[in-house]
Amino acid sequence: MMEQLQGSYPHTYDVIVAGGGPAGVAAAVSAARLGARTALVERFGVLGGMLTSGHVQPILGRAEGRTMYDEIVALLQEGHPDAPRVKTRNGDEIGLDLEEAKLRLLDLCLKNGVYVYLQTPVVAPVLEGRRVTGLQICTPQGLETLSAHAVVDATGDGFVAALAGAPYEVGRADGRCQPATLEFTVDNVDEGPHFACYGGSDPVLLPDGRRYSEVCKEACARGELPENVSIVRIHYTLHPGERSINATQANGFDTLTPEGAVGADYLLRRQVAPILAFLRKYAPGFANCRLRSTATALGVRESRRFVGEYVLSDQDVEKGARFPDVVVHRAWFLIDIHNPAGGGQAERHSQPATPYDIPYRSLVPLQADGLLLSGRNISGTHRAHASYRVMGVALATGQAAGVAAALSARQGVTPRQLDYHLVQQALTEYGAKLFDGEVQA
Ligand SMILES: Cc1cc2nc3c(=O)[nH]c(=O)nc-3n(C[C@H](O)[C@H](O)[C@H](O)COP(=O)(O)OP(=O)(O)OC[C@H]3O[C@@H](n4cnc5c(N)ncnc54)[C@H](O)[C@@H]3O)c2cc1C
Repeated sequence: MMEQLQGSYPHTYDVIVAGGGPAGVAAAVSAARLGARTALVERFGVLGGMLTSGHVQPILGRAEGRTMYDEIVALLQEGHPDAPRVKTRNGDEIGLDLEEAKLRLLDLCLKNGVYVYLQTPVVAPVLEGRRVTGLQICTPQGLETLSAHAVVDATGDGFVAALAGAPYEVGRADGRCQPATLEFTVDNVDEGPHFACYGGSDPVLLPDGRRYSEVCKEACARGELPENVSIVRIHYTLHPGERSINATQANGFDTLTPEGAVGADYLLRRQVAPILAFLRKYAPGFANCRLRSTATALGVRESRRFVGEYVLSDQDVEKGARFPDVVVHRAWFLIDIHNPAGGGQAERHSQPATPYDIPYRSLVPLQADGLLLSGRNISGTHRAHASYRVMGVALATGQAAGVAAALSARQGVTPRQLDYHLVQQALTEYGAKLFDGEVQA
């Protein structure tokens, strides 16, 4: 049994990470490895966030050199030497086993000495003026207060940062966000035709020569597929005969409200049956496919984006910006905006991005102190977010935030005061490559 599970958990930490998704796991493990006494507080019963509770796969996006992306991908694919690593316009598509991931991520955290809280929502930040000094949490025993030198917000929605008064934006200029989706998994797929489709631009053809994406659009127009479901994306998982389906779509719900979140979930769950019927009728090899499982958590692509010391811009992502305070080097994924106002993509199809740096300042929110952003809530524009929101990049920003939180505690300074060179040094020691060419002194 892990040492931290032997006695009672402490109430004072160097670092608390709120949210146990890809960013939160990477942050907590990275902080603990630097000797910080670290808590990871997750509201659900499993770690992994969208990756497990959201049934989201493949892992997309990545960064240069060794980051937690490489470590987590290796961990999740361990024991699966034939794991598909499909190359598409999306880059490497990393399939996984959702069930194995739940234990492997918990095991990773516990073995690195992280104090993991499951079934424990964060209720509010504890504030001293503008500084977050801890979190109020709700354990099975009731409300408890934990204190920490630094807190990492890895809740996706930026729950802690919002309540701490950090400024944020929601959605694009008209306030609309990318749609919510409930992903699901099917099995019993006949691998003869070996059929998959990563997105609306994927030129896959049906046996009769018709383009699959056009068949989806036509079925949507006829009402055979639900409104706005104009592409049924089909991704490989780790297992033959199994596929992850990314297709349901709820536009216009404010998922930051209870009624919006339930309204979206109710709509999306009712979309699963017609999408299954569509797959059985049109997708080669899917005639006898079975619904294996649906996500437990609503898939929210976009909500709050915080305004940090630096706001990563559209141009930064398009042109491949470099920054002296880089903490994630050459991050890459397409600018992938699922249409906030209808079906398909907002800009006809995903737009290109050039491998770009993410600076430390984009992890540091304005106004709230003692706090770091990570994963999909870091500071950036709507279009920049459409690239860095993917899990491969979230793992790397989570890692950087965890390292920075641990070093803030060690140095006795706030994350805003921390010398970013120390973060770069620790990331480099882990194996990250932060600069093109020669390493800067
Ligand atoms: C439908 C959909 C499809 C996607 N497809 C892909 C894809 O194919 N590939 C890819 O790489 N990315 C994809 N993404 C994007 C990616 O999944 C997310 O952006 C990524 O998971 C963000 O990581 P995160 O750790 O920041 O947040 P999350 O994965 O959302 O994790 C946040 C965690 O915080 C917890 N939490 C929230 N509030 C609290 C609280 N108050 N107290 C305690 N815990 C809390 C949550 O339960 C969750 O575990 C998709 C996203 C969606 C929604």
